[in-house]
Amino acid sequence: MRLDHVSTYYPIRRGILNRTKDYIRAVDSVTLNIYPGETLGLVGESGCGKSTIGRTMLRLEETHEGRIWFEDEEITRLSDRRMKPLRTQMQFIFQDPQASLNPRQRVGDLLAEPMHAHRLIEKGAIAEEVDRLLELVGLPRSSKERFPHEFSGGQRQRIGIARALSVKPRLIVCDEPVSALDVSIQAQILNLLQDLQKELGLTYVFIAHGLGAVRYISSRIAVMYLGRIVELADKNSLFDAPRHPYTQLLLQANPVHHPQLRSRPKTILEGEAPNPANPPQGCRFHPRCPYAQARCRKEEPQLDGGAHAAACHYPLW
Ligand code: SF4
Repeated sequence: MRLDHVSTYYPIRRGILNRTKDYIRAVDSVTLNIYPGETLGLVGESGCGKSTIGRTMLRLEETHEGRIWFEDEEITRLSDRRMKPLRTQMQFIFQDPQASLNPRQRVGDLLAEPMHAHRLIEKGAIAEEVDRLLELVGLPRSSKERFPHEFSGGQRQRIGIARALSVKPRLIVCDEPVSALDVSIQAQILNLLQDLQKELGLTYVFIAHGLGAVRYISSRIAVMYLGRIVELADKNSLFDAPRHPYTQLLLQANPVHHPQLRSRPKTILEGEAPNPANPPQGCRFHPRCPYAQARCRKEEPQLDGGAHAAACHYPLW
């Protein structure tokens, strides 16, 4: 998948006529490649645009500007009819699977429904496929007779994963899939996702604010701030030697996952992220950056090239 200067804006409407007065720039000119078979982690504070980018990739949000390709096909403005066969190949796993699972349907029906809707396999083979999916995600076959509320949070997430897999996707956007789970269950779900990736050759975009999970599962990581990617690198480079001041502060705020930074003098990530409807001029991070200089207030830095890219006039190395 490729995103080329993709922006997703939400209108702010005011007045009795409900006219659009401004836009929240949730995603602002993001360019990103996601390579087959990799797990790209997307991290950043709440409201930075990471979930919106995941939804935009799958065309669950309309793109304001820019272009999106899935494999060799541009999908930016494909009609619903032409998107339908592609939707099976791009799936979404939610933080709260309960929200995506109809409480009145038995698990067997929940898993069979997408196969019926997309006519991916013969009707007579669906029951067998449901059993196979349950086995794949580590649930007993008898689960198909039960309702979602009869399962624990971790088991419900397994059902959500099985439902996503039922249409044989190639790309899955996982939006905070373990954030609501106990730590011990988180590890089980992350391991399951990794095993499935190996077995089925899946590509993941893994969105989370918890750096531990992202570090565990990702091969590359993109750090987002106020709708933009500010750093992009393989996970070891990013955790061992962050180049962007925001990434450094984000890691310092999570020292448990980053023992090297724990021993360094600590600078605190202060203040709230600015309003995305009205981002600061120049570098968007400058009001909170301990290294800001005059140039930072005037000129917006772009993501520099290379394997470890940062959008900063004065990167840390
Ligand atoms: S460009 Fe300036 S303000 Fe922005 S992160 Fe770099 S040093 Fe800080």
